[in-house]
Amino acid sequence: MQNTSSFIRFIKKHLFEAIDFVFPPQCPYCNQIIHRSQIMCDDCFKQIHFITGSKCHRCGRPLPLTDSEEKLLCPNCIAKRKIYDLSRSAFVYDSFSRNAILKLKHADRTDLRHFFVQYMIRAGADLFEKTDLIIPVPLHWKRRLTRKYNQSSVLAELLAKKIKKPYSTTVLTRQRFTRSQAFKNNQKRKENVKNAFCINPNYDIKGLSVLLIDDVLTTGATAEACAKILKQNGAKAVYVLTIAQVIQN
Ligand SMILES: [Zn+2]
Ligand SMILES: [Zn+2]
Repeated sequence: MQNTSSFIRFIKKHLFEAIDFVFPPQCPYCNQIIHRSQIMCDDCFKQIHFITGSKCHRCGRPLPLTDSEEKLLCPNCIAKRKIYDLSRSAFVYDSFSRNAILKLKHADRTDLRHFFVQYMIRAGADLFEKTDLIIPVPLHWKRRLTRKYNQSSVLAELLAKKIKKPYSTTVLTRQRFTRSQAFKNNQKRKENVKNAFCINPNYDIKGLSVLLIDDVLTTGATAEACAKILKQNGAKAVYVLTIAQVIQN
């Protein structure tokens, strides 16, 4: 038995070495050759702007470093509450994370989900204990046809598996086709997604705390439209977890 497992390990090791020799793993951003245990090269990794340290308790945006043990709030959250309760993001949305997310979204690089989900788990750690159900922000079927998959579902499915929580792509659906939210201001984004989502009447979400998964949190208009319909149907709380967040001044 011992000999069989060491033989399998030996074969596996040499098989991987042979594959790496013929098809060396490459950094998805700069094509530099990397080790099989790496997801990207060290130079690219250094360019990621992680959200760590002091953060707003409600929206998760970075705040100036402090030793305070109190739950801090950013000026936006003090001024106005969002319909969703809490949001967290792994990275700041900048040219580097934008590029990486575009690869996941439009370039069939669903393998990047492992990298993103690893850091989304770190960013959203305080949300999981109180989460009952994980739901990706849905795509309209027409958009899914052209894109082949919903990047938020790809992330949500892996995240649910890792944190061992139920996940559904059929509870929340997009009933209305909406134009892209890009290049729209907050008001226009709100109008664009107004009444775009609906809850499948076959599900009862009363009293559940829902964790919504999306790729980017910009003004929060899409997440708010989802949270509104979820709460109208009895959800107790709605949390939002994204790969990246736009940090406005
Ligand atoms: Zn690189
Ligand atoms: Zn905030």
